[in-house]
Amino acid sequence: MEFLELKNRVETVRANLANASEGKYPAPKLIAVTKTHPVETILPLAKLGIVDVGENRTQEIVEKRNFLRENFQIHLIGRLQSNKVKYIIDDVCLIHSLDRLSLAEEIDRQAQKHNRVMPVLVQVSPAGEEQKGGMPPENVLPFLREVSRLPGLHVRGLMAVMPNTQDEAYLSGLFADMRTLFERLRDEAVQGVDMEELSMGMSGDYLLAARHGATMVRVGSALFGPRT
Ligand SMILES: *Cc1c(COP(=O)(O)O)cnc(C)c1O
Repeated sequence: MEFLELKNRVETVRANLANASEGKYPAPKLIAVTKTHPVETILPLAKLGIVDVGENRTQEIVEKRNFLRENFQIHLIGRLQSNKVKYIIDDVCLIHSLDRLSLAEEIDRQAQKHNRVMPVLVQVSPAGEEQKGGMPPENVLPFLREVSRLPGLHVRGLMAVMPNTQDEAYLSGLFADMRTLFERLRDEAVQGVDMEELSMGMSGDYLLAARHGATMVRVGSALFGPRT
């Protein structure tokens, strides 16, 4: 893709994000999802002021890590197997996809081994599609209480992947539910947990997500075109 085309797309997404909630919420941070794309495609993002990139596979992070680390902050946004945590624990700035205790314990173990505290988001499944990862909303509070005792990780908010549908009314309801859950958990003020980030919205629905108070959106194909 031409640089100017990419620049246009980034500017369009940014402009859409800036206006989405009509001042009700600050504009969410744009995370450019760079999965499947080679370094030549990704590098121009740095010139456009993009700081944060999202990848969904540990293997791909390992392959692109030198390049990515030099130019960006890496977010792990995809499902994570416990036995892969050790490969990426030093590379990523935020794990968006914590959804079970065994994974929390492994992140804690590896983080301590590497002398860091790993920021994480708890993935929620607002539509009950647990095959996409994420826990039912009602499980989140007890989960937060359990993982708050692990010194190697720091819960900084929630993440959700929405169902793949064009039904805006349905999606709006789910985004609103996520925002309500986020605020309710923030009010619970679980010790050691900070409810600051709400990661939701992708290319097809980032506007709706921003309207409902996302603090981060994860956008891939709206920047780079469809993945082949
Ligand atoms: C691929 C992916 C995205 C971005 O999807 P697009 O529709 O290309 O914007 C966002 N979040 C997760 C978890 C993903 O795997």
